[in-house]
Amino acid sequence: MSEIIEGHCLCGNIHYRLANKPLRSHLCFCTDCQKATGGDRNHVATIAIEDFELLAGNLNIYEATAASGRITERAFCSDCGCNIYGAVKELGGMGVNVPCLNNPQEYPPQAAVFVSQAASWSAMPEGIPQYPEMPSYENDFAE
Ligand SMILES: [Zn+2]
Ligand SMILES: [Zn+2]
Repeated sequence: MSEIIEGHCLCGNIHYRLANKPLRSHLCFCTDCQKATGGDRNHVATIAIEDFELLAGNLNIYEATAASGRITERAFCSDCGCNIYGAVKELGGMGVNVPCLNNPQEYPPQAAVFVSQAASWSAMPEGIPQYPEMPSYENDFAE
């Protein structure tokens, strides 16, 4: 029996379903995530873009251009502003905001990425690998 994985934003208007279990989750310390979340890290679970199904609510989309030139589509709830996902269409993958998933405890972070951009006071979790930028697994969904 496969579990149905769904998520909701802070106000509850955004409701979505994931067609598959996330491949992994990681903590992102990039400065864009810091700005988007208001924290020193963003906890995201990696899925294929086509596995995200919006069931209800309106997303505000902002296209952020990373230093690499790659565009990340950042989606927020149009009502409460909650961070929903960041999608890199070029790579076919997206990171959904783990705290919005119905069972966030099931997705402990397995890596810390973009630690080169972390705040000097950020405490790194122990026991998981740290990468200065995004490791090569960003190509999970590439052809
Ligand atoms: Zn909302
Ligand atoms: Zn980031």
